[in-house]
Amino acid sequence: MENLQEIVALAKRRGFIYPGSEIYGGFRGFWDYGPLGVELKNNIKREWWKTMVYSREDVVGVDTAIVMSPKVWEASGHTEAFTDPLVECKVCHKRFRADKQEEITLHEKEHGEKVIWTKPKKFNLLTEVLLGTTEPKQKAYLRGEITQGVFVNFANVIQSTRVKIPFGIAQIGKAFRNEITPGNFTYRSREFEQMELEYFVRPDEKESKKTFEALKQLRRQWYVSLGMKENKLRFREHKADERAHYARFAEDIEYEAPFGWSEFEGIHHRGDYDLKNHRLKYKDPDTNEEYTPLVIETSGGVDRSALFFLMDAYSKEEKRVVLKLHPKLAPVKVAVFPLLANKDKLVKKARQVFDKLKLSLRSTWDERGNIGKRYFSQDEAGTPFCVTIDFETLDNDSVTVRDRDTTAQVRVGVAKLEEYLGKRLGSSV
Ligand code: ATP
Repeated sequence: MENLQEIVALAKRRGFIYPGSEIYGGFRGFWDYGPLGVELKNNIKREWWKTMVYSREDVVGVDTAIVMSPKVWEASGHTEAFTDPLVECKVCHKRFRADKQEEITLHEKEHGEKVIWTKPKKFNLLTEVLLGTTEPKQKAYLRGEITQGVFVNFANVIQSTRVKIPFGIAQIGKAFRNEITPGNFTYRSREFEQMELEYFVRPDEKESKKTFEALKQLRRQWYVSLGMKENKLRFREHKADERAHYARFAEDIEYEAPFGWSEFEGIHHRGDYDLKNHRLKYKDPDTNEEYTPLVIETSGGVDRSALFFLMDAYSKEEKRVVLKLHPKLAPVKVAVFPLLANKDKLVKKARQVFDKLKLSLRSTWDERGNIGKRYFSQDEAGTPFCVTIDFETLDNDSVTVRDRDTTAQVRVGVAKLEEYLGKRLGSSV
């Protein structure tokens, strides 16, 4: 994938991602997911939850409120320190992030004249909301990270479950940041979704570093297991001056996007920063020992992952564009076609096959145009298999199954179709 515009165009054309509020000219930093996009995102979230929650005995999940008491954000340091450095071009008054050298250079080149910048000032990224019926309304914030909802429920989770340190709390949900320069399609949005694990360990530096390393590898491996090309992935350690206010150390997982190596998940050692700020402690139920645990966090973006899975899967061949998405992520698993739309017997039989398949696999029906166009269309949507009902089906009850990646076709008996597809798609689709 060389060109971001190709993915933007495909995403819109096929219903993965549309510009937000498009009929009113769009709204910077906001995007809508279409029929294929919502499936892709749901598949990513489901796979994440399976790996990070269901496959482990030491992790439980939560789903906390987007709006919390402003006291949460004061205690967590966000009202003070959740900032990016902002500079303004004195020529055109556009504002930029001072720490994004590429954007600064690009703007200087665009102007073609000497740009004079204001001194960097701290710009807070929290999005304010006003609540209540009496004036002045109460000011609160849309959460800038989903993390704090986990910390404020730390004691609740311990009391209502039997988790013991070491353990983790997982969450997936929306976060909002008043980004200075939203851009690169969905990469930097003002509304986005995060998938996070907060893992609590004893205050033992060695143990926390071991956990950090293990989670780092687990998270990278997760992307690889879902088909992301290893040579497009790398870790990058944060330098001291770029770490978030809560982080002792941090490493990003980056993808080589058309706009350069870009973070889409962070592994953060948050130390005891958050629990201490919220005055929360852990009491060992066996020894009664009381202490503040250390927290290792894995924080991934659903939108950035979806974008990079799309880019990674995008492949242009001589006569077609194929999204070679992993079957677990593919929005639609199988497309069913009657060879000819005007032959009632074929349509009736194809309907029977489709009605059965759609109960167990995300399936779609297409009878438009010729078979070549239908294949082309499904390749672009990333559908792993196309099933065609033809005249032979009426004779011997077998169908053609065509593989997206190889375009190879095999005949499979209708009675065995579900089993065959299930096997080829992997058990947990
Ligand atoms: P950046 O340096 O790109 O602003 P960050 O380091 O501030 O990102 P974190 O606070 O570590 O990001 O957030 C964890 C994850 O949440 C990121 O890796 C990313 O996937 C996602 N995320 C953060 N900000 C955005 C955004 N504006 N749009 C989309 N996803 C985002």
